[in-house]
Amino acid sequence: MILDGHIHISLAGDFDGDTKQLFLEKASQAGVGGGLVISLPPASSQFSETQLSNEQRLHDLLNWCQGDPALFPFYWIDPLEDDTQVQIDNALAANISGFKVICNCFYPSDPVALDVFRYIAAKNRPILFHSGILWDGQPSSKYNMPAAFEALIEIPKLRFALAHISWPWCDEHIAVYGKFLNAYGNRKDATAEMFIDISPGTPELYRREALLKVFRVGYDVCHNVIFGSDSFTRNYNIDWVKRWLDIDRKILDEFELNKEALNLIYVENLRRFVGISKHHISRTAPLQGQSGFTELPGDIR
Ligand SMILES: [Zn+2]
Repeated sequence: MILDGHIHISLAGDFDGDTKQLFLEKASQAGVGGGLVISLPPASSQFSETQLSNEQRLHDLLNWCQGDPALFPFYWIDPLEDDTQVQIDNALAANISGFKVICNCFYPSDPVALDVFRYIAAKNRPILFHSGILWDGQPSSKYNMPAAFEALIEIPKLRFALAHISWPWCDEHIAVYGKFLNAYGNRKDATAEMFIDISPGTPELYRREALLKVFRVGYDVCHNVIFGSDSFTRNYNIDWVKRWLDIDRKILDEFELNKEALNLIYVENLRRFVGISKHHISRTAPLQGQSGFTELPGDIR
């Protein structure tokens, strides 16, 4: 059984018992038994086609995930909206698993946004960020380049994922990952942890190169890579998901990852990201200048 770390709710008011059942059946046909479900976007988002109230967005999200412990609800916020704090508190009161953010017109280092991220980290909730080229029809790429997320290094215990291996900036993504790992190994107060969401975004031509670099760079990545499809709850695209699983399997086979590593990528890392895994892990961090590695004892968090 696989967990899909990147699923979007596609349409407002689309939820009813039948649509959910259909989604679960289609996911199951693709070998997927659950995953991270992202709410509809906030009204301020250019992706918002409906002017659904925030209460309705949250209600919809909870409906999709209710009664299924393998579905993790992620509530989409724009940290610069006036009532973000209220939205977050409502989502926390409803026990959502985490938050989704697209930095479409602000840098992750925006002081107001950083305060919001700090608050979420203090509540022990993770954040899934879009990263990489953003198909929003706007000049927004500069806000989504991996290095822009370095600012998160100052937020204690933040768990965050950058989606799509930040394609086309996969090299930069991996370098930023190494930076966070090195900081964790060298600075007692740098406890933010980055996860690598490998949802496509990478066109097939680039896929092998991107995964090769992720898994062969020499950094300790196995506890932090999360599989995702970027599919939708409505008409969950069985062919698309199966196709990418197939492409990735062939590539990962070359790297001879053992069963345990594959289980981390396809199941356990997402569970640890959302905070329900009891797994205690230890990792190794690249030393200064990447000239060697040091053992990090105990749980990374
Ligand atoms: Zn997405």
